[in-house]
Amino acid sequence: LFGYVGIEAVLDQMKIKTMKTGFEFNIMVVGQSGLGKSTMVNTLFKSKVSRKSSQPGQEERIPKTVQLQSITHVIEEKGVKMKLTVTDTPGFGDQINNENCWDPIMKYINEQYERYLREEILITRKRKIPDTRVHGCVYFVPPTGHWLRPLDLEFMRRLSKIVNVVPVIAKADTLTLEERAEFKQRIQEDLKIHAISVYPQEDFDQDPEDRALNDRIREKIPFAVVGADQEHQVNGKRVLGRKTKWGIIEVENPAHCEFPLLRDLLIRSHLQDLKDITHNVHYESYRVRRLNESNR
Ligand code: GDP
Ligand code: MG
Repeated sequence: LFGYVGIEAVLDQMKIKTMKTGFEFNIMVVGQSGLGKSTMVNTLFKSKVSRKSSQPGQEERIPKTVQLQSITHVIEEKGVKMKLTVTDTPGFGDQINNENCWDPIMKYINEQYERYLREEILITRKRKIPDTRVHGCVYFVPPTGHWLRPLDLEFMRRLSKIVNVVPVIAKADTLTLEERAEFKQRIQEDLKIHAISVYPQEDFDQDPEDRALNDRIREKIPFAVVGADQEHQVNGKRVLGRKTKWGIIEVENPAHCEFPLLRDLLIRSHLQDLKDITHNVHYESYRVRRLNESNR
């Protein structure tokens, strides 16, 4: 009648435990200035993830981002609290010389690993170490329709070694559907040629089932996204979108852009996987590197 272990009961316990402790999830947006990063942060928070906390009529202009800045919302669903933090970064590429423009971003990511490590090696550890590590880094590719620029390749190459990189085609409303598809194909080729391993990394597929699911995602990466922080009335419903002379581009409408795919990947289907890879792969290699250094 009952299984030997009573796996149901174990699952219940795990669920209750998660409900009590809640969890933390951290995302970062990176890319050249003017590509819609700050807008995307607002889009994420205003879209279905946290509809409740958005207050209509309180639209504010987004100022130019001049420093790293984190915004945290606590989202509660079915009794589980998720602390979602999105870190916005100043765009690079404003300078004539973009050499080392990745330094502040790499530094921030490593500092969060360092913080975690410091807590972890204490003799009396906290039961739950505050987690500010970046679980996913959304990299904005400019919608040129050509190939990836050397700067984007170099940036992603470096980032992908320390963090989960999720590339997106920024401002996809500036490309036709054919242009989007072609550009996407070129970027996929470019990444392959340069051996840049973006999320979900093929090396970390757990089993054939996982592989099949992730293969389908890899075909669609980078997602062609559109961001918006204004709501409009469409057929009696309020939708997040960009109003143009030709109509409204609805960011949450899968027929209009792939923002829903990005949101679902990050906050729904792959949240735990992003956290696991961050902990087991990226943080682990940081930890090994650091502890080796201090043993010398
Ligand atoms: P950031 O410098 O990357 O943070 O870019 P911002 O979010 O400040 O956006 C720069 C400009 O691009 C603003 O005028 C935005 O309204 C506009 N913008 C943001 N997202 C999109 C998009 O998806 N499509 C288009 N066409 N414009 C966008
Ligand atoms: Mg900005």
